[in-house]
Amino acid sequence: MSRAWEERLLRDEELALPAADATWRARVDALFREQCARWPALARGLEALARVLIREVSLGSATLLLQHNPLRLTSTTAIVDEEAVQQRPCFLCPEHLPVEERGLAYGHEYVILCNPYPILEQHVTIVHRAHTPQALGGRFDVLLDMAAALSPDFFLLYNGPKCGASAPDHLHFQAAVRARLPIGRNFAERQLVVSEPGITISHTVSYPAPTLIYRATDRQRLSAWIAETLSALANLTDSPGEPMLNLILFAEAAPANAPGDQRHPPLVWTVLLFPRARHRPSCFFAEEPKRLLISPAAIDLAGLVVVPIREHFERITAEDLRGIFSEVALSLERFDELVAQLRAHRNFTQI
Ligand SMILES: [Zn+2]
Repeated sequence: MSRAWEERLLRDEELALPAADATWRARVDALFREQCARWPALARGLEALARVLIREVSLGSATLLLQHNPLRLTSTTAIVDEEAVQQRPCFLCPEHLPVEERGLAYGHEYVILCNPYPILEQHVTIVHRAHTPQALGGRFDVLLDMAAALSPDFFLLYNGPKCGASAPDHLHFQAAVRARLPIGRNFAERQLVVSEPGITISHTVSYPAPTLIYRATDRQRLSAWIAETLSALANLTDSPGEPMLNLILFAEAAPANAPGDQRHPPLVWTVLLFPRARHRPSCFFAEEPKRLLISPAAIDLAGLVVVPIREHFERITAEDLRGIFSEVALSLERFDELVAQLRAHRNFTQI
């Protein structure tokens, strides 16, 4: 394992954890306290987060929250084409992190780092120790483990390498406190796709980005259905590798009557899967005064849309947002085909 990472790790005994509280929530809280005191850029990022402007925009049955967050300008406009990425030093490799930056080891492969440009409270990046490309294949179970470890307060997210990850060359996930993510009201209206013991899959009805919603107590079936969805989506969109998508997931305690043993209280996982058609909308590339600098990824598609330029934040309309979501999300026709394919595969996990 790289020594460069070992030197970056903070161990529990260095974290001043509250007595008898070694939960991941407590560790992440302690990491932020330590890093905020030592790393001025993080302290500035957290101050900026406390001052962000929020504006609600109603799109019929959905309500999107706009967040004016000037610190996100670098991420929003990140140049992610292959050549540019190869030529820049990787900002997730330990050799190039700011000198003050430290992290928490998550198992032997991942490190939890504070995000100095947060969109939400306790916003962290969970970085693989190796400089290996961003890809979901074979890692969904790790995401489920992380969601369980960080339950119930946090959600996890994955942005595909061509639709939102600003380091497509270095595998990473993100996590943050879920309370301010406006998913409760936006994803309540849904239609059933598949219902099997231990899992229900549904899809949004009038949300401006068609979304699949998985609720599962059976994590093996959940993994199998996610793999099935990725494969169907890759076929539908002629993607040679991973289809374009963003994911949000979290775990909570399952209802009292769910199966499970007493030592491991059962969990229910929720996954929101946003199939994508494009990375950035046409207004991102337009000339002023039509330009709107918005580059949607998982958090935006979940309903919290980050707008780094103040004038764009004030100008953007419900129609603009509807247009942006429909350009970057999978088209409704394709989405209906995907749903039909999943319905045709019903019960495949029992075969
Ligand atoms: Zn790297």
